[in-house]
Amino acid sequence: MQQADRPPISVVVPLLNEEASLPELHERLVAALPADAELIFVDDGSTDSTPDLLRKLAARDRRTRVIRFRRNFGKSTALLEGFRRASGQLVATIDADLQEDPAEIPRLASKLAEGYDLVGAWRRARNDPFRKVLGSRLFNGLTSFFSGVAFHDINCGLKVMRREVVEDLVLAGGYHRFIPLLAHWKGFRVTEAEVGHRPRKHGRSRYRGEQIFQGLLDLAVILFLVRQEGRPSRAFVAAGAALGALGIAISAYIAYLRLAYGTISSRFPLLSLGLVLLVVGVQLFSLGLFGELLAYHFRSRRPFGPALEDSAVDGVAEEATKADASTPNASGDADHGVTAGSGRRRSPAP
Ligand code: UDP
Ligand code: MG
Repeated sequence: MQQADRPPISVVVPLLNEEASLPELHERLVAALPADAELIFVDDGSTDSTPDLLRKLAARDRRTRVIRFRRNFGKSTALLEGFRRASGQLVATIDADLQEDPAEIPRLASKLAEGYDLVGAWRRARNDPFRKVLGSRLFNGLTSFFSGVAFHDINCGLKVMRREVVEDLVLAGGYHRFIPLLAHWKGFRVTEAEVGHRPRKHGRSRYRGEQIFQGLLDLAVILFLVRQEGRPSRAFVAAGAALGALGIAISAYIAYLRLAYGTISSRFPLLSLGLVLLVVGVQLFSLGLFGELLAYHFRSRRPFGPALEDSAVDGVAEEATKADASTPNASGDADHGVTAGSGRRRSPAP
């Protein structure tokens, strides 16, 4: 799809049993957004009347699209499915609980024009139970500390981004909590903007205290998977090699004792250590190598990498648009995420 044919913005809303907020949410989204915006509601296996309400809204309003899951798959999966279907030039996300105001979406979108690729909402004055705010502070602090990127509010449901940010995003489990971080690591320019926040009026929050531990586990995995940039298991290869080498050295020493003196003179604990290190080292090494093999294989099959601009493709696409007769190759390539003919320059995040 050419950039100009796209709706200006797609808003993706994940919902789980939000019948009480849905009508007001839809109304306020419609009021806040341009007439050609796209609304994508992803019903994450609701068991209340959410699906019926959505069906009615979609029948009434051309801009509204509904995706329905057969069961509850979680917010990350809901967002991912929404992103896959979003055709807007910009993509926004918002929670269905009306704690953030849909009218903030255009305001965040206008901040993109300052040269950002993602603007996340920062709920400076939060209206949530104390333990939730505390948990969130802790989570933000630890994420900032371990990732080395400072965030006030990484996990707010309200965000606006350019479509390139979501095109290549992989979300599973609790990864939706790290969207700004994932975007930052891909070289997108990420920022935060303060927004108002209201208490949840209807329905109930799915927040549980232990989520913070799951969040930190996800962070550890993400640090490995993403930060290592395509070579996630190198640390295992290195650790395996080091431990294995130590095991070999110890075993050689034991062998030397036996050969030179005919006895290893009660160095049995050392012998055990050497053997354990050898076995563990070989295990870790081969596990790491196997991980690298997989990563290498899938990377080699990816249709496109992290390229931002391709003057050849851009040029061809521009020509094609001018002549209004696009060659199949030009439009095909242009659709593959390389900003076709827009000439927008994106500098890597600081
Ligand atoms: N949600 C979802 N699937 C889930 C849990 C939540 O789609 O398994 C949606 C929910 O309907 C809401 C948003 O994700 O629109 C945020 O959920 P919630 O407000 O419960 O989380 P909190 O903001 O309290 O952390
Ligand atoms: Mg909420």
